[in-house]
Parts: sequence; structure tokens; C-alpha cells
Amino acid sequence: MKIICIGRNYADHAKELENAVPSEPVFFMKPDSALLLNNQPFYLPDFSNDVHHEVEVVVRINRLGKHIEEKFAHRYYNEIGLGIDFTARDIQKKCKEKGLPWEIAKAFDSSAPLGKFLKLEKMGNNVNSLQFRLDKNHELAQEGNMADMIFPIDKIIAYVSKFVTLKIGDLIYTGTPAGVGPVKIGDTLIGYLEGQEMFNFEIK
Ligand code: ZN
Repeated sequence: MKIICIGRNYADHAKELENAVPSEPVFFMKPDSALLLNNQPFYLPDFSNDVHHEVEVVVRINRLGKHIEEKFAHRYYNEIGLGIDFTARDIQKKCKEKGLPWEIAKAFDSSAPLGKFLKLEKMGNNVNSLQFRLDKNHELAQEGNMADMIFPIDKIIAYVSKFVTLKIGDLIYTGTPAGVGPVKIGDTLIGYLEGQEMFNFEIK
């Protein structure tokens, strides 16, 4: 199982980090050891002083595929979830300055909390305008709508599968909207998709 993450998929977030809006999707990967399930607490790593939350809609692949055409991409998933792409922003900044890969800022253990999934058939099969949000300590921190994605899910699947075979159980984190920010010990993060609570865990 692999975790594929899309960067800069919402124009407002690209702007807040002063990144150009990309003309093709930008993706990177996290290993399976990044997964954090069942609302377990996230322990702040000691190598960063600036770990940021990035709430993201997550797609789980349910068929093997390579070179998937965009028009057939919807056949490769049937449920949608919500997770966080934890990012050590201080380290990522250094990597960017040096032109280095982002792994140590993005792929560390437990950097990919994942909540429950909702069946698309129960949501009218509409993945193009779902609303999601992240509350930090019971206050709104990030809010997004999938309609604002620069690259919608089917485009992402078509693009990624040109380079990487998608397998059953692979996860795609589809990028974060504006409002990313640091977490500290004692914070509670609760994610909602279409008003339903998807995850709820603590920072330790
Ligand atoms: Zn992200």
C-alpha cells in the first residue's frame, strides 16, 4: 500500500505559501508507516518546531490500474475519506531552499492520519462539490470545497497512473485548502466531510 499526496491543488493555499499555481499536478509519496488510524493521538516529532496540519480529502483505490484514462477514472474508487497531511514546515522550507526532496518533512511516521470513509453511492455519487473542514480546538481552522480543486480526482488518477501503477488500497490525499497552521501538544483536531465527523484526535 502506498500513499500518494497532491501538492498545491487549491489556488488559495498555493498563494498562502507563495507557490505558483501548477499547470500539472505535483505529487509525492508517504510510506505505509505514515498512516495513523482509529483516532489515535499524534505525537509531535522532536525534529521539527513547526508541524502544520493540512486537511485533505482522501480517495481509496479499489482496482488495479495503469495509464487510466480520465473518463474511466471514476471506476477506480467508490468511497471518499478525510485525513491530514502533517508537514514539518520548517524542514520543508529548508528542503525547498536547497532544491532537495521533501520526504523528511512529509513522510515521517504517523504523518498521515486517516479517518473513516463514506460510500459515494450514499452521497449521490457526486465527488465534485463536497464540503469539508477542520476544527482545531473546536474552532474552524480550514474549510474547503472539492469544487475548488485545481485538478479534480479523475484528473489526478489519470496523471498519477501514467507514472505509478495504482493498486487496491492505495490512498490519494488530494491537497489542502488555505488555512494551514501549526499544531501543539494538547490540541484537538476534528475533521468533517459534508457535516459528518470523520476523525477526532489529540496532539500529544
Ligand atoms: Zn498536503
